[in-house]
Amino acid sequence: MLKLASLFLLLFVALQVNVQARELSSDFVKSQSGKFSQGGLVVLQLTEGTKVSLNGAALPVVDNYTVLGFGRDAKLRQEIAFTRGKKSAHVPLTLTKRRYSIQRIDGLPPTMVTPPEAAMARIIAQGKLKRQARAGLRREADFSQSFRWPVKGRISGVYGSQRFYNGEPRRPHFGIDIAAPRGTQVVAPAPGKVTLAEPDMYFEGGLIFIDHGLKVISAYMHLDSLNVKVGDQVAAGDVIATVGSTGRSTGPHLDWRMFWGGARIDPALVVTGSPSR
Ligand SMILES: [Zn+2]
Repeated sequence: MLKLASLFLLLFVALQVNVQARELSSDFVKSQSGKFSQGGLVVLQLTEGTKVSLNGAALPVVDNYTVLGFGRDAKLRQEIAFTRGKKSAHVPLTLTKRRYSIQRIDGLPPTMVTPPEAAMARIIAQGKLKRQARAGLRREADFSQSFRWPVKGRISGVYGSQRFYNGEPRRPHFGIDIAAPRGTQVVAPAPGKVTLAEPDMYFEGGLIFIDHGLKVISAYMHLDSLNVKVGDQVAAGDVIATVGSTGRSTGPHLDWRMFWGGARIDPALVVTGSPSR
């Protein structure tokens, strides 16, 4: 009997919370932009003093802004919790499911598909460098404005596609590829701080990371020349590099990627405007 009573109590509490969620969300969120989708990034402007968590993990809040990101294969059911003083709300939400295509890239040197033993130490050391530069520890939010295209041109590869290199299955593609002539200027799509600027990474070739704050990092690959160094603060529109075909690449293009912590975000869901020149 006691068990049944507590079950009803639980049910009652659960219903209350659900009702509160609908009524209270405007109490916690002033404005919202972005897409609740696999590969999406959502920026929330919270009411003063609101704390927020995603699936139980507290998120950083700066100047009342917070960011939520969802990876390529993020589970569709997510839960955001808000608290301010004694008020709280749990908001369950369902992400939009994405469909990803298959892309085949042929004509690569075999060492770019399966690296030789001799290259492994270099690849491992560079992986560590990337993880450090991607830790996303900056608290400042530099991007309350929107992201612009870092370069304009034809889109030659999209986020999420399952990739085959010279017929061999490899990890999905997490960037958006923009074909442009070698030497075309690459600009910062939003303000931030450079956390990595390496001219010769094994797979990425010339590579730059920009930390935009609140766990959001953007990356630029296959660069021909680099105009910035680690620690530089860049403004939106600043020239950071030029387009190239360095690393694992079959022609000049920019591979633009975005991260929210460990989650890989689709830049196409974040950027505004058209990529055509
Ligand atoms: Zn690419």
